[in-house]
Amino acid sequence: MESTLFCPKCEEDRTFRRDQRDEEREIRGEKIVLTVPLWVCSVCGETIVDDEFGDPIEKAYDAYREKHHLLKPTEIQEIRSKWSLSQAGFAALLGMSQATINRYEGGSIQQEKEDELIRMGESPEHMAGLLARRGHVLTERQRRTIELALEGSPVARLSAIWDGFFESMPLEMTARSGFRRFDFDRFAAVVVWLCEKIPVVTQTKLYKLLFYADFLCFRSTSRSLTGALYKQMPYGPVPVAYESLRARLEADDLVQVCEQTYENGRTGEEFLLGPRASCVEVDFDDDERLVLEFVRQQLGRLSPSAISDLSHNETAWKDTSPKEVISYEKAMELSLSIPD
Ligand SMILES: [Zn+2]
Repeated sequence: MESTLFCPKCEEDRTFRRDQRDEEREIRGEKIVLTVPLWVCSVCGETIVDDEFGDPIEKAYDAYREKHHLLKPTEIQEIRSKWSLSQAGFAALLGMSQATINRYEGGSIQQEKEDELIRMGESPEHMAGLLARRGHVLTERQRRTIELALEGSPVARLSAIWDGFFESMPLEMTARSGFRRFDFDRFAAVVVWLCEKIPVVTQTKLYKLLFYADFLCFRSTSRSLTGALYKQMPYGPVPVAYESLRARLEADDLVQVCEQTYENGRTGEEFLLGPRASCVEVDFDDDERLVLEFVRQQLGRLSPSAISDLSHNETAWKDTSPKEVISYEKAMELSLSIPD
């Protein structure tokens, strides 16, 4: 087999013939032999590794994993995703550190003992046992997600999330929804927009940004942006059914929630764009874009506690009883408004 390729040594296009060579690499003190496909320059003998072969180091790792029957990084990720767990949650449940799981998913080779632990995490029976014994290391939401996953298939899981959602978020066109029927696609598009344009978006901050975006939009156009309802909660306004909304955003791969530990020792959940975020297609009109830009400029840089404090000073929050839905009519008294 022959092919014309650019020869880096001759610095010209040359005819190359196909060949192969055995390469030895040492992984964990063990010799791994790889048969590497090559192209050989017919003039100077320069060899080029066939592009399609991929990275020889990765290949050697794969060969080592295969020989020792160890899980591949993608398989580890699949087991974790089966339970919709973050790396931090999965690691905590197995009694490992997040950094360790992160390394294994990134291509480091796990020890056999840890391989066994992760592998067992695939079985629902084992997961149910772990949840019963070690569930206390997880957040409430993580526990619920696993319980839902244990109840059924991914489809059943998603529909369970939606059933919960429709029960808790009435689809109405009233002052409670800003006279827009809640639209998940619009809601998702706003979340994706905020996570893309604003550097660090934690859960608390995201809910406040959404509140301001919706209420400011209502103030300037007499209609909310997403139709979401917000309730008065201790940390400020929070979308009704936020857990279901968030589960749906994560299940659809529109966002990825990553647990972070900050310098002050506190932990928080950061919202990052998910692999399918670019699939969101909603055309905001000019007024709506203006609102989003305004929110980004005015509130994007605020810390979660600063934006939380700001929302606590709004009449919308102060004049609503705890856990009650905040009327969009209160948008007229917000401390901020879009300049004409
Ligand atoms: Zn050559």
